[in-house]
Amino acid sequence: MKNDTWGRVKQQLLESVGRNNYANWIEPLDLKKVDNGVAVFSVPTSFMANWVSRNFSETILSHLKAANASASRVEFTVEPHQSRGAAAPASVPVQTQKASPAPKVKEAAPEMPDLPAADLPGAPLDPRFTFDNFVVGKPNELAHAAARRVAEGGPVTFNPLFLYGGVGLGKTHLMHAIAHEIRQRDPELRVLYLSAEQFMYRFVQALRDRQMIDFKQIFRSVDVLMVDDVQFIAGKDSTQEEFFHTFNALVDQNKQIIISADRAPGEIVGLEDRIKSRLQCGLVVDLHPTDYELRLGILQTKADSYRGQYPDLKFADGVLEFLAHRISTNVRVLEGALMRLFAFASLVGREIDLDLTQECLADILKASERKVTVEEIQRKVSEHYAIRLSDMIGPKRVRSIARPRQVAMYLAKHMTTRSLPEIGRRFGGRDHTTVMHGVKRIEELKGTDSQIADDLEMLRRLLEA
Ligand code: ADP
Ligand code: MG
Repeated sequence: MKNDTWGRVKQQLLESVGRNNYANWIEPLDLKKVDNGVAVFSVPTSFMANWVSRNFSETILSHLKAANASASRVEFTVEPHQSRGAAAPASVPVQTQKASPAPKVKEAAPEMPDLPAADLPGAPLDPRFTFDNFVVGKPNELAHAAARRVAEGGPVTFNPLFLYGGVGLGKTHLMHAIAHEIRQRDPELRVLYLSAEQFMYRFVQALRDRQMIDFKQIFRSVDVLMVDDVQFIAGKDSTQEEFFHTFNALVDQNKQIIISADRAPGEIVGLEDRIKSRLQCGLVVDLHPTDYELRLGILQTKADSYRGQYPDLKFADGVLEFLAHRISTNVRVLEGALMRLFAFASLVGREIDLDLTQECLADILKASERKVTVEEIQRKVSEHYAIRLSDMIGPKRVRSIARPRQVAMYLAKHMTTRSLPEIGRRFGGRDHTTVMHGVKRIEELKGTDSQIADDLEMLRRLLEA
């Protein structure tokens, strides 16, 4: 067979296997000879030889036959890449494929004997990050449902699954949970989980060591690829480029991809447009900031599991509710607080009450205080009582205005770190004694006037939201 015949066959292969498969698996093939009906190709690695042999030899053969090449079998020999340190190219014949007269139906994804799943260059999975340990609430129910669906396997319905949300909302937890579940269901499947940072690190290392072929092969032969915190590769051009090709190659093979980021694909600055649009092609779901109910649910679940370790420890009523109320939306911070509380309580050996909680977690509580400004308080209070903002800080003394003004002063005193004189200045230059009087008045009314108490509660919630 002449070389231009192989050139023509390659053209046809490009059409039948697609551009990505072609670039990864067909292009590197070198036709050595056709001898006694055996077409012998050299390939750079045995990994590749196996893969091509299992996945493409029938296609290659049928195209060769169609081009009247007298081949009835294809064979692949390994000729290591020169840069990989082999002194002389050693030829090792690997698996061959018999010609079969009628095309058989191939299995979708043959396993790769060369590289057991355990050897994939992924990151270790946290054994605690399972679906069982994931508390579901309104803010994360969609993300959870999508993750469950992907973990069930079956035909790939959305690709990629793109999970996004702020820090500590459970993205990594859900990804590990998917990986655990898939591995448990089918240990043969090659599931690769890693952070985008690790992806870049491997890529740079492969470039440096001139092992790009291996790199590509490994990443393009997985069944499930999970890349965490993909925003990391924004602005890193060659890593993005490689990620894009890996991504496309896997999508072409109908392999599931799961990506996470701290924001929606379209909002990642420095990410190429073609990648953004690829990422948007599947299912994009976000994890919303936790709400009070979800935080309480998580705290209760964690507290129950700690009780196993510290059976004597008791929580006073209201402690978990207090934490759920006061600590920010980041679940990691919430967990840290609870862990510290348990450790502290086991040292001092007494029931965890509100005082102990506040003492032990003072720094965390302070850090998660939302910074409410006096101006915000004035605005919200004016809206609530339907008065003008200018009246709130103006000189009018009628009760319909003076009372809301006192409410605002009270909230400013309790929700900000401003001193009384500072608050006075923000209320049209009033004296600090006026502010003090207003705060006192509301404190009294709170106990006797349920309307005022309700207003305060509602405004506080509004301002903290
Ligand atoms: P992200 O990757 O979004 O920054 P993680 O998945 O690392 O967040 O979650 C931070 C911590 O909070 C982990 O310890 C995780 O187990 C926990 N966590 C987050 N969401 C939940 C949840 N819904 N139920 C239980 N634990 C959660
Ligand atoms: Mg994470």
